[in-house]
Amino acid sequence: MALKGLDIFKLSPKKNCKECGCPTCMAFSMKVAQGAVDIAACPYFAPEALAKLSAATEPPMKTIKVGAGDAELSLGGETVLFRHEKTFVSRTRYAMSLCTCMDDETVAQKLEDIKKVDYERIGERMFVEMVYVNYSADGKQDYVELVKKAAETGRILILDCKDAEIAKAALEVCKDGKPILNGADASNYEAMNAVATAAGVVLGVGGADLSEIHDTVEKLEGLGNKNLVIDVTGADVKETFKNAVQIRKAAIKDGDRTFGYPSIVNLHKIAAGDLHKQAALLSLFTMKYGSVIVAEHIGYAEALPLYGLRQNLFTDPQKPMKVEPGVYPLNGADENSVCLTTVDFALTYFLVSGELERSGVPVNLIINDAGGLSVLTSWAAGKFSSSSIAKFFQEQDIEGKIKSRKLIIPGKVAVLKGELEAKMPGWEIIIAPNEAVQLVKFMKDFA
Ligand code: SF4
Repeated sequence: MALKGLDIFKLSPKKNCKECGCPTCMAFSMKVAQGAVDIAACPYFAPEALAKLSAATEPPMKTIKVGAGDAELSLGGETVLFRHEKTFVSRTRYAMSLCTCMDDETVAQKLEDIKKVDYERIGERMFVEMVYVNYSADGKQDYVELVKKAAETGRILILDCKDAEIAKAALEVCKDGKPILNGADASNYEAMNAVATAAGVVLGVGGADLSEIHDTVEKLEGLGNKNLVIDVTGADVKETFKNAVQIRKAAIKDGDRTFGYPSIVNLHKIAAGDLHKQAALLSLFTMKYGSVIVAEHIGYAEALPLYGLRQNLFTDPQKPMKVEPGVYPLNGADENSVCLTTVDFALTYFLVSGELERSGVPVNLIINDAGGLSVLTSWAAGKFSSSSIAKFFQEQDIEGKIKSRKLIIPGKVAVLKGELEAKMPGWEIIIAPNEAVQLVKFMKDFA
């Protein structure tokens, strides 16, 4: 059962030394109880108190690491069912599938397709992070060779194989990349556990139904393996959805730690060949509750809305997405280039800077400190006003750094023109269009 802050405080060192970053032991205890801070952040808890508290303050769902080096990713570690309760912790990761059942040409095309989606949105790299390699006993491809090819993509692998001997051979060629070995069930868990633990990789557990999965996870935990993920894929979409939701609810709401592991959803098995259905299911299971989702194909058409959805779900709603205020010279801008100012809301920055770059016109983009709010919201809140812009220009010594005295302001705050001309003498204030997409033509005409 979850501990209350007071229970933790009773066992705390009560030194109020602030080394943990909290002003008092009471504040620290409250944060630990909320799951906001790890109890290990205080170096002064007595070992007996730590032993008593560590198990009770563990998050209800384990954080499982996959991949190696720069490619390492965390899965799970969630503490809530809904994003409005608290921030979700580990982003859903996406995998494209390969299978020994595919011919050479299809495999080669898939390996090319995996690399195609790769772009940045609001400071985050969007790409297919994983490759799922399915073993089919009557396949045309050699499994180990296929795994080798998949490993060359540099993505984290998920080996789907229920045959312990073949899995062992496949891990020999890719275990350094810390893949997931998915394939343990009630019939083979002991052999698969031995292979996964010897290779030091995460083991994926599945089963015919929730009860069988629960029993198998318990047995694996009994063997000392808690480096697990649960394959929640059922016979069809309905069963898979039910499994994903019930496992997450059991872990988070009922405190059932046996189900407290990240999940894999395999769309290749429940919507084979139907790419439109898979695109819809990718979104569905991103929201409910796939830690890894395997699809047959993820191109730009699927990725653009999907990764946008993921980014919205997994950002902290209490923290505005903002960029660092300052001067950003674009397209080789120098001190004589025109200035354009806007707010520090990340989405505004990336949209505006993207369009300005597309225009090819040298421009000094001046990002104001507007609290991470959008143009109209910050204007309404008084954080993007003529006074705040003039003050920011003074603090940043813009006039000392830039000789140009032409300043373009967003069309939505055209009302600021007169006030800015009064507060920033010598500057010519120019009104930009209302929408970022109109900037390319505007800048070209302006130049
Ligand atoms: Fe208290 Fe430990 Fe934090 Fe010091 S580091 S204030 S002893 S909780």
